[in-house]
Amino acid sequence: MDSEAARNVWNEIVDAFPPVTPSQPVTLCDCEECLEVRANLGHVAWNHVLPPAIEHCFGSLPPLTDESFHALLPAYLLHAFADLGDHNKVFEWTLYSLCGPEDGADHDPEDAGLREKAMLFSPEQRRAVRSFLFLAGSVREIREQHDVMGAAATIWR
Ligand SMILES: [Zn+2]
Repeated sequence: MDSEAARNVWNEIVDAFPPVTPSQPVTLCDCEECLEVRANLGHVAWNHVLPPAIEHCFGSLPPLTDESFHALLPAYLLHAFADLGDHNKVFEWTLYSLCGPEDGADHDPEDAGLREKAMLFSPEQRRAVRSFLFLAGSVREIREQHDVMGAAATIWR
């Protein structure tokens, strides 16, 4: 891992995403997971989300509303930088939420739901997500599990 490249991507993300408090509620259903997510991630902009909240909700990007996904994704991306390897659950699940199903599953790069989310992002923000995916693509074990380059080239174009 080239630490200067990682630092550049970090800065790109910070610059591209002004802190925005997502409108409430951040999830729409009342299952246990969604209530947990609302308790941990509701009412704060990404730069005020605490690391333990991310660790607790490591797989909770998918149930967020599209708007909350947009507002809170940077907190997950930056947390993932702590350890870009497949043993980091936050990194692994954040990639999952950016790429769709793992290879071998019913992978569809045209994933409509994810594309709809991506449309809320500005060109600069999509570029920052692509940079993150390119960085992730340099991690061997990750490359074997996720079509990160495919997602970068299609969904996050
Ligand atoms: Zn739910």
